[in-house]
Order: sequence, then C-alpha cells, then structure tokens
Amino acid sequence: MSASLDGGCLCGSIRYRIHGDIIDAGYCHCRLCQRSSGAPVLAWLTLPVTGFAYTAGEPAVFHSSEHSQREFCDRCGSQLAFRRREAAQTVDVTLASLEDPKQVPPEYHIWRQSRITWFETSDQLPRHEDNGPDR
Ligand SMILES: [Zn+2]
Ligand SMILES: [Zn+2]
Repeated sequence: MSASLDGGCLCGSIRYRIHGDIIDAGYCHCRLCQRSSGAPVLAWLTLPVTGFAYTAGEPAVFHSSEHSQREFCDRCGSQLAFRRREAAQTVDVTLASLEDPKQVPPEYHIWRQSRITWFETSDQLPRHEDNGPDR
C-alpha cells in the first residue's frame, strides 16, 4: 500500500501529511482506544515514522500508558496519532482523521477481548482477541 494522504483534526488547527508506504491498517477494540475516543472502536493505520509529519499546528500529548502516547488537538479533542516506545520506528494514525478515509480500508480487528458486546461489524476480516500475530 502506498499513498500520499492528508488529514487533520476537526477544528483545522492541526494538519498532517502521510507519504510513502503504509504498513497496515485495522480496528482496535482495546479499552484505551475506547476511553480516549469515547467511541466503541478506533481504526488506525501504521506506517514508518519517516512517512508522517505534522504540517500545521502542534498536537497535545497524553501518555496513556508507561510506554505509549496519544497525540490530539487540545482545541477540538480529535485524536490523531499513537506512538509506542517499543515500536519507535512506526506511528499509528487514526483512519477517520484522514481527509479521505476510504482510501485506507482496515484489514483486521485486534483486542476483541475488550469489544463492547453491542458493537459488531459485518465484515469478514480476521479477528484477534489480543494484539494479533504480527504486531
Ligand atoms: Zn482541532
Ligand atoms: Zn487500542
């Protein structure tokens, strides 16, 4: 998957650009994604950090665990990016903050053990109870 994609937050203060190869994309049902977004699931893409840059504004950072941080707009609250210390060469970006999210369809579900029971999607994508095989 290769792309040049723009995205940003709801209010427009923060913009970013993605270029080069995307590694993969998927839904995360973990509690941290749920609670940090107020939504039942977050959809993310993962790419090398070298392919991601903010082009306007500066995100606020929240350390959602000892080893990870979430980047968001402190004006409108949109969550934009996620980084893990153990995976410092990659960054995750919220699919729905892309200008054209349909360009990057999710390929799997992870952390299904935290799925909210009333929430289900009708796709046939692989479903992993935990972080999945290759992450
Ligand atoms: Zn904003
Ligand atoms: Zn998650």
